[in-house]
Amino acid sequence: MKSYKAYCFDLDGTVYRGKNAIESAVRFIHKLQMEKLEYFFVTNNSSKTPEQLQKVLADINIETPTSRIYSSALTTAKYVDLHYKDANIFMIGSDGIRSALEAHGLNIIDTDEARPDVVVMGIDRTIDYMKLVKASLAVQSGAELIGTNEDIRFPAELGFIPGNGSFVHLVGNVAQAKPTFIGKPSPVMLEVIQQEYGFQKEEMVMIGDNYDTDILCGIRFGCDTIHVNTGVVSTELVLQKEQKPTFCVEDLSVF
Ligand SMILES: [Mg+2]
Repeated sequence: MKSYKAYCFDLDGTVYRGKNAIESAVRFIHKLQMEKLEYFFVTNNSSKTPEQLQKVLADINIETPTSRIYSSALTTAKYVDLHYKDANIFMIGSDGIRSALEAHGLNIIDTDEARPDVVVMGIDRTIDYMKLVKASLAVQSGAELIGTNEDIRFPAELGFIPGNGSFVHLVGNVAQAKPTFIGKPSPVMLEVIQQEYGFQKEEMVMIGDNYDTDILCGIRFGCDTIHVNTGVVSTELVLQKEQKPTFCVEDLSVF
């Protein structure tokens, strides 16, 4: 493998599984840290703050500043700050997205206080009908609809449960509006890293276990990609795709 300047890692299924470290990935990240190469964590998890994700990484022996963690929540806030600075924002979501929006000093309102210019949606495990009504009406009145990520479902112990994308599409369908998504496979998170650090695309690589999010994110952005066979999508399935990753590996111990 050629040497890159910036290694962008997915988290779940790539660096850890649940609470368990994927040791080959941890060793690889230690190696990058020793060689002073740049590494970033790029995750669609919008329910945890960077501090909470930093703690999860510390628990598996990866010490990292929060500035290296790009969650879809954090990047959504950066994106809203960039494009809708003084806007009124109606949000549905948990701690992760709320604290990210607040950290940028963005104006979060309820729909009975003012007319929203933007509706931001991240995963909200207490979502109810009224929140969906408010979001749908706001978007019909002209608010932009932005979702932290498009994940339709994710695996839980008993089976698949609804992801944020399911709710964002629900609101989009009711309001007849096309949402903007920030999380992978949208290339926005890699674009933000590139802008902030001034990398060339060919200096960056996206590493992940999920073809439909991680690998497509890298492909749409236009950088090299590495698929690892340690998570949700097997190498066998990835090799059937028309657009293949630059590299397919069992795990990161080969590097
Ligand atoms: Mg993953």
